[in-house]
Amino acid sequence: MSLMKPDMQMDVSFYKVEEIRYLTDETFSLKLPKARFAFKAGQHISLGIVGGNQSREYSIYSGENDENLELLIKEVDNGYFTPRLRKLKAGSMVEVHGPFGKFGMEPELAAKGKFVFIASGTGIAPFRSIVHTYPDIDYRIIHGVRYSKEAYDRAEYSGDRYTLCTSRDKGGDYNGRLTGYLKSCKFDPETHFDLCGNSNMIFDALEILKDKGFDRDQIHCEVYF
Ligand SMILES: Cc1cc2nc3c(=O)[nH]c(=O)nc-3n(C[C@H](O)[C@H](O)[C@H](O)COP(=O)(O)OP(=O)(O)OC[C@H]3O[C@@H](n4cnc5c(N)ncnc54)[C@H](O)[C@@H]3O)c2cc1C
Repeated sequence: MSLMKPDMQMDVSFYKVEEIRYLTDETFSLKLPKARFAFKAGQHISLGIVGGNQSREYSIYSGENDENLELLIKEVDNGYFTPRLRKLKAGSMVEVHGPFGKFGMEPELAAKGKFVFIASGTGIAPFRSIVHTYPDIDYRIIHGVRYSKEAYDRAEYSGDRYTLCTSRDKGGDYNGRLTGYLKSCKFDPETHFDLCGNSNMIFDALEILKDKGFDRDQIHCEVYF
């Protein structure tokens, strides 16, 4: 979270919201015109509403070469910013700072590496950006959510690459927490792991991967909250 200071002018661009796509009752994607905005898959931006005084970080959900700049946002109960974002309409003005962050993919590694992307909730956003940008990448996604309706844009990933873990209904490929599934998995020793989402999931997943013998330098994390 950040408070925008009036003199904070670095890398700010103003965009008209082009489309809002509702994926569930709480989660939506904001599509902005991409214009000349350049970023690396995996990076995030800081988003503000024009006329507001707050901003929040959001991973970029679209690929580097996609037509739009897209974000995946979940409305948080009693949150400050997301209920305001949810009220935006096509045509509303937002401001984008960034891009920021080192989480992501080196093009050379994308061509030869083996990846496991571990996401909770909207933490799948940077991985969709990576898969859009590097469609030939050798990846698996393990996605942990509460309800199966939160398998955001699942149809875009081929079935054997995407595993949905649902903790509150039985509609997942695995019924239970992502970490329970992870414990049962076998991975190639050369695998690179990228983890994104809430800190509890990330700390637990790190322990599980450590117990499986993976080095910390094979694992990269992006913590949302
Ligand atoms: C690098 C980075 C990238 C991020 N990318 C995304 C993204 O792609 N999509 C996205 O939806 N969020 C993302 N977030 C989280 C986002 O920045 C905000 O924290 C979130 O939207 C809540 O804002 P709010 O003002 O509504 O809630 P606040 O009023 O700021 O917070 C209310 C409470 O909700 C908790 N909280 C924050 N996010 C969630 C959540 N998703 N589910 C449950 N509780 C939460 C906070 O810890 C806090 O206790 C990212 C955060 C970081 C640091």
